[in-house]
Amino acid sequence: MGIRVSEIAKRYGMKGKELAEKLREIGFEDIRSNMTTVDESTEMMITVRLEMEGIHPNEPEPEPEPEPEPQPEPEPEPEPEPEPEIEPDAEQEAVPVEKVPEPAVEETLATAETVEAPSLEPAEEPVEADAAASDVPAEESETDVPEESADDIEEVEEEAADPEVAAEETNKERPRGVAKVVGTVDLSQFEPPKRTQRPAAQSGPGAAFPQALPSTHRDKRRALMRGHTGSRERLTTSQLRDLQSGRFRRGPARGKRGGPRSRTPGPPRKAPTISIANVLSLDPPISVNKLSQAMGIRASDLLKSLFKSLGFGAVNINSILDEDTAILTAAEFGCELEIRPEIDAEEELVAQVAAVEGDTGAAITRPPVIAFLGHVDHGKTSLLDSVRASTVVDGESGGITQHIGAYQVETSSGKEVTILDTPGHEAFTAMRARGAKATDVVVLVVAADDGVMPQTEEAIAHARAAGVPIVVALNKVDKADADIPKCQGQLSGAGLQGEEWGGDTGVIQTSAITGAGVPELLERVVLEAEMIDLGANPTKPGTGTVLEAKVSQGQGVVATVLVRDGSLRPGDILLAGCGYGRVRSLISDRGETLDMAGPATPVEVTGLDVAPAAGDTFVVVENINTAKDLADQRNRHTRELQRASHQAVTMDNLMDRIAAGQKRVLKVVLKADVQGSLEVLNKSLADLGTDEVAVEVLHSAIGAVSETDVLLAEASEAVVLAFHVVPDKKARSTADTTGVEIRPYQVIYELLDDVHKALEGMLGTETREEILGHAEVRAIFRYRKRSIAGCMVTDGLLRRTEPVRIARDGKVIYDGKFESLKREKDDAREVKEGFECGLMIEGYDDVKEGDVIECYTVTEKARTFEAEG
Ligand code: GDP
Repeated sequence: MGIRVSEIAKRYGMKGKELAEKLREIGFEDIRSNMTTVDESTEMMITVRLEMEGIHPNEPEPEPEPEPEPQPEPEPEPEPEPEPEIEPDAEQEAVPVEKVPEPAVEETLATAETVEAPSLEPAEEPVEADAAASDVPAEESETDVPEESADDIEEVEEEAADPEVAAEETNKERPRGVAKVVGTVDLSQFEPPKRTQRPAAQSGPGAAFPQALPSTHRDKRRALMRGHTGSRERLTTSQLRDLQSGRFRRGPARGKRGGPRSRTPGPPRKAPTISIANVLSLDPPISVNKLSQAMGIRASDLLKSLFKSLGFGAVNINSILDEDTAILTAAEFGCELEIRPEIDAEEELVAQVAAVEGDTGAAITRPPVIAFLGHVDHGKTSLLDSVRASTVVDGESGGITQHIGAYQVETSSGKEVTILDTPGHEAFTAMRARGAKATDVVVLVVAADDGVMPQTEEAIAHARAAGVPIVVALNKVDKADADIPKCQGQLSGAGLQGEEWGGDTGVIQTSAITGAGVPELLERVVLEAEMIDLGANPTKPGTGTVLEAKVSQGQGVVATVLVRDGSLRPGDILLAGCGYGRVRSLISDRGETLDMAGPATPVEVTGLDVAPAAGDTFVVVENINTAKDLADQRNRHTRELQRASHQAVTMDNLMDRIAAGQKRVLKVVLKADVQGSLEVLNKSLADLGTDEVAVEVLHSAIGAVSETDVLLAEASEAVVLAFHVVPDKKARSTADTTGVEIRPYQVIYELLDDVHKALEGMLGTETREEILGHAEVRAIFRYRKRSIAGCMVTDGLLRRTEPVRIARDGKVIYDGKFESLKREKDDAREVKEGFECGLMIEGYDDVKEGDVIECYTVTEKARTFEAEG
């Protein structure tokens, strides 16, 4: 599917070749000729880019359009008077006009859009022009923007910060909700949003409007970086619109406001010509495409509006809009959008399960769940092994036999503890990112010979963010260079003051090698856990967290889950992430078949249809149809998100290429045995990129490498990375015939290292010039109508085969190579410092006495990340 460039050219009355050339010029480097086919999203980008270049179609676009384009011509104002509900006269009079001159603010906002736009510089100017053209009558758009316009905005915001105004109703609802104006702005009814505080200094793109408002995810990330964490959660649509009424002509009636801060409505502005004026209800996620279809407008119109708000290229047709952006954008097109609460049925179900009381007499205190975090090589794995070894009673049959991501041990005082066997905070954080609080107590492993290191600090931050208590294992105390007091001091500095230092953190000295301190560590964890409410009731239906899942041949999906409350039994109907099914078997960490797994028990479950992700929650439900419906719903949701993110990558690349020459991308298909590894790999691969080269994971999933994976890789010139998995027979033969490379790995580090090297290879080479030496021309001899320069090598050397330059009075006048280089009468390969020589330069016969001959060499060197910092 797609459209040829030659077809698009017809719309512009251009020749296909001419358009292809133009497109390449403006950054569409993949367009090789007029016969190149582009997809819908690229076609749209082309339309917008051409428009920004001032190239407009000379015939209507093929899609039927109910309404004329709002953009080009200024329309007569459809609403001759300010909307009555907006600004009572009393307010207008109260405005200190010199402080907020209305037209200035309008112009300012047009500027502010540019200021806020993402950093695709080449796009900014035209976007601004475009925005101006569509939003204001032509003569207005011509008006020069006063230089101090950004300051005007600041002033408006200062006003908004006034406590008097801050008491306004909307502000109570959303204390930090302050408008970043994004897009078409109707200032005639603009009421600057209020906020309670204003950062002292702002710089960079957000300076004019320091607080971020509705945004795409990308924008939201930036907002978060600026410390804005406001959420729309507690706002209704109309409250949001009320808060944002400055952006919309159809803003609802305001309550009585009054007060000196209100302003006179400015000159009326053009309303959007598309007035759909209906109420829409959509399920999230809301993509640009979905919204445009629901509103019955062209996606390109919606995109144009979003580009103006968020910056050119910030979104594409498949981008998922956050709720605020979707609502506000819909409103710009005269449409009231209601977003149906996401998977509310699911929440209801989980709440129902949680509400089941069970037999109150059966309530117990469940064992705590602990995780080991800390800096690499400080001994997490060794301590886990030591714990396992020290707690398996001698001769006990069925000791811990399998790594299922967690195991249960008994402390010396007979208390049970569940240990997550996934060291490192990636797994911990991945789970937390999904809202799973699997861990009750964190054991922070610090090597006594190394002290607090960067990952120790990260681990502390993660534990704190999760609100989980920390017990420190001061490990490797058996080592001669262990410096316990130093470590204690560092820990105190990090806010973990040991009890012997007057603090309340348990710091236990351990040695994973000798086993010293390990029982004490576990006892201390139990003590810490006694402070936490670990009440559970095994008679309730099971709920908990998925720790890991894999697809095993013969067994299907095998998931390790940690029951948090209630219990899990064979035959139970389980909904876990996107998977559901009837529990077929329960296997413990000792390989025993269980007929029940109670609170804090890690257990391997079979029977799910689809592998859930690490960190997904699970619930036991009564009805298989309910489980199926919810799993389907989650699947649809995940697919939509995946599609959007995949497309977004493509679009980002396109935009990057437009902005910064060609970005080279290493495409990979990633397969792994378990979800945990897959997540770590995905994240680590994403982190490997730079501005010039990046990894694009086309597809990542758990399970064997399949024929589809190979075909996908072939189609996209990607390589398949197989971590702990092998290709099936079909995949192998397809790989043989197509030449697709499947690279098997057993160690994460090796995989990342190879990818790192491949990316470095893509950086190409750099040329370096090294000066070999200089010679001074002392005399010129004429020989058969040619000039021979008699020289003295003053430093370094001259080499016959290397290039030379001639400098006269400090300026290079010629760059070429030797025609001949002689010592006395003989040809010389090299002439060193302090020696005389005669030389001729190829193609240059005008060497003069006093000229300096510089000989140099050019070397090519592969670029590396390290060399470039
Ligand atoms: P992790 O990266 O935190 O999981 O660290 P490991 O458990 O892999 O340990 C890293 C290295 O430190 C290994 O060579 C261990 O043998 C060694 N090690 C771990 N704990 C101790 C200890 O208590 N004493 C000594 N002497 N070496 C230890």
